[in-house]
Amino acid sequence: MTKKLSLSNLPVKGCHVLMRVDFNVPIDKRGVITDDTRIVQSLPSIKNILERGGSLILMSHLGRPKGKVEAAYSLAPCAALLSQLLSKPVMMAPDCIGPKVRDTAAQLKPGEVMMLENLRFYPAEEEPVKDPSFAKELASLADCYVDDAFGSAHRSHSSIVDVASYFPGKSAAGFLMEKEIKVLGEMLHAPKRPFYALLGGAKVSTKIEPLQALLSVVDGLLIGGGMAYTFLKAKGIAIGNSLVEPTYLEAAKAIMETCQKKNIPYWLSEDALIAQSFSNDAATQTCLLAQGIPDGWQGMDIGPKTILKFTEVLKQAATILWNGPLGVFEFPNFSQGTYAIANALADMDAVTIVGGGDSLAAIEAAGVSSKISHLSTGGGATLEFIQYGTLPGIEALSDFPVKK
Ligand code: AMP
Repeated sequence: MTKKLSLSNLPVKGCHVLMRVDFNVPIDKRGVITDDTRIVQSLPSIKNILERGGSLILMSHLGRPKGKVEAAYSLAPCAALLSQLLSKPVMMAPDCIGPKVRDTAAQLKPGEVMMLENLRFYPAEEEPVKDPSFAKELASLADCYVDDAFGSAHRSHSSIVDVASYFPGKSAAGFLMEKEIKVLGEMLHAPKRPFYALLGGAKVSTKIEPLQALLSVVDGLLIGGGMAYTFLKAKGIAIGNSLVEPTYLEAAKAIMETCQKKNIPYWLSEDALIAQSFSNDAATQTCLLAQGIPDGWQGMDIGPKTILKFTEVLKQAATILWNGPLGVFEFPNFSQGTYAIANALADMDAVTIVGGGDSLAAIEAAGVSSKISHLSTGGGATLEFIQYGTLPGIEALSDFPVKK
């Protein structure tokens, strides 16, 4: 990947700066933001632009309003919270495009900040071909562009890809974006070895291709969570009613064969906490997976042997990537495996990189965020970066050094 222009090399003094952020935060029914992490993480870039005398225009999506204006998806609560965090007013625009927005943006003074309304109120945000003038309108608000929304950089949306084309030589990566590119890039190209990846979660379909890509760089692979059952079934083990993606059985087999060919050791869950139904209060028992899961039962969490084995194996690693919970951790009775691994990672000397909303939530709930080397803000974006080594939103940025 070519080096990209950084916000630190972008002249912003006296300029109007259009910055794509990811303020897609959880908001409850009363309009209260229940987790402000994403807003807090954008602060370094925001403050840098304001302190250097730029006028800042922020844009983001929030939820899935599906191309229609819906008050519940307004970014006004984010503007209010940002204003508190910055201790200065944050103007909330009535829309994200249009003459009113253009007039207000033009009047912004150096050090002032304005938040545009939800980009996804327009269908053209997610489908730029529907109306290419949408990106052009957004671009007309500013002199240069910054993208600090790594978590959305895998999407070829108007505010991420198309808008950057209006700022040749002036489209820069924000600090959060830059950090993600650096940490994940090093992990893929020059990881401290041995490098082990631990994958869990439910959707084999979204992880199989990144997993294939990881096989060219990892020294060991651990698979737990719901994902593991597709691999166990591919090995001929009875999995009862456990989660399985039958169309990926062959792909799972191929992964295990590649590991064998390349001498990459891999570990699947050895035992599981199984339940008679998908509910927190279901009857449970621990099951050794080599003996198979009885009919009528399903694997809900990794068992004690797997927790010990995975912890022991991961202790040998110098770099660890973790993506995906190891059980149905939303149910307290099946959250032990995920929390045990979160706590184990926190105590390790290795470079620890955790990605994916659920794994991040587990790290936070375990109270060990500060002990993890890098908390990747992208779920899908992190996986696609691993798969392709870059993302559409990164490619759209200006190369560095900038060609005159
Ligand atoms: P993903 O988005 O693929 O990372 O999947 C996350 C989801 O995987 C979480 O909602 C977990 O509840 C779910 N999950 C983890 N382990 C299991 C399991 N053994 N059975 C069913 N779902 C699981």
